[in-house]
Amino acid sequence: MIKFSNVKKVYKDKIIALEEVNFDITPGEFCFIVGPSGAGKSTIVRLLVRQEMPTQGEILFESIDITKIPRKLISLYRQQLGIVFQDIKLLPSKTVEENINFALEIINTPKEEVNELTKYLLETVKLDNKGDLFPDALSGGEKQRAAIARALANDPKVLIADEPTGNLDPTTANEILDVLQAINNAGTTVMVVTHDKYIVDKMQTRVIHMDGGKIVSDAQGGYDISSLPGNDSTAKPKANDKKSEVTETDDDLKKLKKLMKND
Ligand code: ADP
Repeated sequence: MIKFSNVKKVYKDKIIALEEVNFDITPGEFCFIVGPSGAGKSTIVRLLVRQEMPTQGEILFESIDITKIPRKLISLYRQQLGIVFQDIKLLPSKTVEENINFALEIINTPKEEVNELTKYLLETVKLDNKGDLFPDALSGGEKQRAAIARALANDPKVLIADEPTGNLDPTTANEILDVLQAINNAGTTVMVVTHDKYIVDKMQTRVIHMDGGKIVSDAQGGYDISSLPGNDSTAKPKANDKKSEVTETDDDLKKLKKLMKND
């Protein structure tokens, strides 16, 4: 589903943020990207959402080389992704429900489906009794879950969350993790960038450990196991057939692939 091949990213002033980065995420996987500050984690996300271009290498999303997507098709590409950034805020003047409605309206969801879909999304993140509240009335964990619901509005193939449990206590972090796990169990690929050792240890799933712009290990397990030397390239994605069969039938993705061929 997502493949980084020999990706290098050099920012201005010759800062090397990524070097020789190779990984492959299969449909339905749950994967953490961990590592110290400055390791290159956010750069991976920025490249994946086409906010930045790699200096070298290839990045595939469902066989599309995203570095070749023309500017006018980038928004169509981004509609395939669900993105939860730490700094993306809900609209403060709208209730939680209105925030989700708005996200659905932006992508031209038929009017008669909006309310039902919003209800479904709020149930998914266990906020069905908080739809009438304004974001300011929500706790940190609830805000984050509302942001996840909004990111799911376009039924993304992959959910990318950057520090979804940053600054939250373990109980609240657990709630977020439960929601992410449920979303993954329903078939969505989930990629989580985190410093949170607790959630990584709890999940015991694939962990890509970055340091100094390089992948230092890629393994199944907890935060520390993944950082042990010699643990490189041992990740074996869990067998998962959940969503793979529907990916090729998706209309928007087909449209993007077709438009790329014509461009
Ligand atoms: P992380 O998310 O792991 O903290 P980043 O991907 O943000 O790491 O950063 C990797 C390296 O690239 C760091 O040295 C950082 O200072 C540098 N960097 C990140 N963004 C920029 C930018 N826009 N311009 C110049 N250097 C950057």
